[in-house]
Amino acid sequence: MLKSIHAALAMSVITLTAFGASSAFAAPLKVVASFTVIADFAKNVGGDRIDVTTIVGPDGDAHVYEPSPADAVAMAKADIVLVNGLHFEGFLQRLVDASATKASIITLTKGVTPIDFKPEFADADAAEGAGTGGGKTVTDPHAFQSIANARIYVKNIAEAFCAADSDGCVSYQTNAAAYTKKLDAVEGEVKAAIASIPESKRVVITSHDAFGYFEHAYGLTFLAPQGISTDSEPSAADVAKLVTQVKQDKAAAIFVENITNPRLIEQIASETGIKVGGTLYSDALSQPDGPAATYIDMMHNNIRQIKGAILGS
Ligand SMILES: [Zn+2]
Repeated sequence: MLKSIHAALAMSVITLTAFGASSAFAAPLKVVASFTVIADFAKNVGGDRIDVTTIVGPDGDAHVYEPSPADAVAMAKADIVLVNGLHFEGFLQRLVDASATKASIITLTKGVTPIDFKPEFADADAAEGAGTGGGKTVTDPHAFQSIANARIYVKNIAEAFCAADSDGCVSYQTNAAAYTKKLDAVEGEVKAAIASIPESKRVVITSHDAFGYFEHAYGLTFLAPQGISTDSEPSAADVAKLVTQVKQDKAAAIFVENITNPRLIEQIASETGIKVGGTLYSDALSQPDGPAATYIDMMHNNIRQIKGAILGS
């Protein structure tokens, strides 16, 4: 009797060992995404082979986010951490340190051509009268707002997943290729939508400078009272300067953003007489039942709002 129990235990140990050795990840690959856009890309590439935890959730602001103890736990358990980089996630280093995570930290803007941002309004006081009209130049972190860059993020994610889980590599590459085709189609729609707007009307206002890569890729000018981060309030002088410029340049539309307080935009709207055109999704996706629950939905929403506000359709 005793012998047979031993035998049964020995059998189950052998079975468990054999099962465990069949794949490095019998359980899904544990992925932490710093914010919603990256989580969406990861789900499209990883499918059911991965389990994604998102740090900065829907409508959240990564610039000023304060990590929670639960975030540190997720980081500590992660196999892979996917981040934007270019100082988008102000909290990142603190969270990496606090969690003592052993996960690979993958920076998805690797391979992206960064755009420099020169503040026109925020922090412009020091350079007033210097002829260059701006403060010091910094790198714009919002690379994901260009669909060409989204393709680079997706490629980097597929490579990271393949390195961590070689058994799933064919699946990751196949998913990435299929998703990239969808991105190509959306990019065509964005370009067609911008082309339908007269050049003289391609000027819009948002609260912070999140759309530099979109502007660079698709040819629409964005003006914003706040710089590329939301961590400081613009001065009254900055706002007055923007209002003057808006009146001169005849901005065609003005938008609130999902991640920022609408108060400032409402003030500029009332001072310039331009009606608020709607909500643009800048640094985060919407809740699952909102209009920008995925990156592709975000692009569709933003271009529909912009076109609708400018052309009145
Ligand atoms: Zn931002």
